[in-house]
Amino acid sequence: MFKRILIANRGEIALRVLRACREMEIETVAVYSTADADALHVQMATQSVCIGPPRAAESYLDQAALLTVAKATGCDAIHPGYGFLSENADFADACAREGLKFIGPSGDTIRMAGSKAAACARMKAAGVPTVPGSDGPVADADAALEIAERVGYPVLLKASAGGGGRGIRRVDSPEALPAAFQEASAEAAACFGDGTMYLEKFVTDPRHIEFQILADSQGSTIHLYDRDCSVQRRNQKLIEEAPARCLTPELRREMGAAAVRAAKAVGYENAGTVEFLLAGDGKFYFCEMNTRIQVEHGVTELVTGVDLVRQQIRIAAGLPLGLRQEDVTLTGHAIECRVNAEDPAAGFRPCPGMASFVHFPGGTGVRVDSALYTGYTMPPYYDSLAAKLLVHAPTRLEAIRRMRRALEELTIEGFATNAELSHLILHHPDYIRGACTTAFLEQHLQELVDWNRRAEESEGAQ
Ligand code: ADP
Ligand code: ADP
Ligand code: MG
Repeated sequence: MFKRILIANRGEIALRVLRACREMEIETVAVYSTADADALHVQMATQSVCIGPPRAAESYLDQAALLTVAKATGCDAIHPGYGFLSENADFADACAREGLKFIGPSGDTIRMAGSKAAACARMKAAGVPTVPGSDGPVADADAALEIAERVGYPVLLKASAGGGGRGIRRVDSPEALPAAFQEASAEAAACFGDGTMYLEKFVTDPRHIEFQILADSQGSTIHLYDRDCSVQRRNQKLIEEAPARCLTPELRREMGAAAVRAAKAVGYENAGTVEFLLAGDGKFYFCEMNTRIQVEHGVTELVTGVDLVRQQIRIAAGLPLGLRQEDVTLTGHAIECRVNAEDPAAGFRPCPGMASFVHFPGGTGVRVDSALYTGYTMPPYYDSLAAKLLVHAPTRLEAIRRMRRALEELTIEGFATNAELSHLILHHPDYIRGACTTAFLEQHLQELVDWNRRAEESEGAQ
């Protein structure tokens, strides 16, 4: 087993990894930018090293600095968390060259999955259903027009290197395509340093259903069932749950098998996620593969009892899963709300600042993953996730009630969050019925925001 792990990340995920390490009696080295000197991960690690100024490019993304620190502090492995370098194939390769174990799949696997266009083509070849589309990169707007004509509008232009919901454009007609192509490609080039685009038919009102995968170095690959992440804004997840209520046992078996097939098709090793779109007619399509621990991994941990970060570390150390597919069982229902420092009434504008008072809910079946504390100032340089609130209960309805209660108890003063919006969503009949598709939030946002404003006004009038 590893003796000392460098955690190349910050925020709640750095704490999550630290906690797993501590339970496994592995020492930790935290890294931080000058903007994070008072961050919790810096205090909780065995040892902490400042690696640069606030800008991520000069700190958390500085590969040479990370490798130097890892070697100087005697680490034998690096955990990348999510975001930052977690899906950077060159970094995974560089770690291997320096004799440091990258806790994740190989550089080649990351490279394959990270090119979403190539991954779709590979999946199709492996018999995993994919959305009709370009099956690979599209060279230019003319090529895109031709493919769109064949699959039919509306279509989605997607950045091959995209992530975090960026670089995606819906196109409804051939007239709108050339401009959308240039725009999306330019955005992708700016965000991801790669303007390569591919094209998919737009699946109307799908659900986002994903499967958690674990694969060890001995060739054993299993899935840990599904999560429904359909409540999204701007193609980004807001509320996730496990298991997905809409799956019949038969469909769950079929999609689980497809997810394992997808992982095997790229020689997957470590924890990963296969994302699918599930259409209203019950057909499902491969969407993308995420080669890292995911933000919403906690809901799977709650319903399966498997510690996914611990498994990541064990797998990277060469240990077998110690878990067969038939050993994985689902108990109860789990929901996660991402509490972001952002203002839903102002287009979800990020608004991090000083948390003048913080109180987290507790009690039976409640888990909070957060790096926030009273008096802490969230730096503006990184993402706006302030806390993840998770609940676990015997049934979905009880989980919904528990999450409402947890959100009511949560107090973050000092900046706006989306907690109130999530609380409202948990009262919406569509959510309660389990009828939300990825179109739900965009369709009901105004209604929910107005609802909230009226509630606040009547409260103020009393
Ligand atoms: P998940 O699929 O785990 O829900 P998200 O899409 O919410 O993940 O992204 C998790 C984090 O990783 C976010 O901070 C997001 O900004 C970041 N991220 C995801 N993909 C990329 C990427 N390709 N490049 C840079 N950051 C990314
Ligand atoms: P990212 O890497 O940014 O997470 P994804 O490929 O996972 O990108 O897509 C993000 C979201 O966009 C999905 O969860 C889904 O809501 C929506 N989406 C992606 N592809 C399609 C499609 N072909 N039709 C409809 N919606 C889609
Ligand atoms: Mg995705």
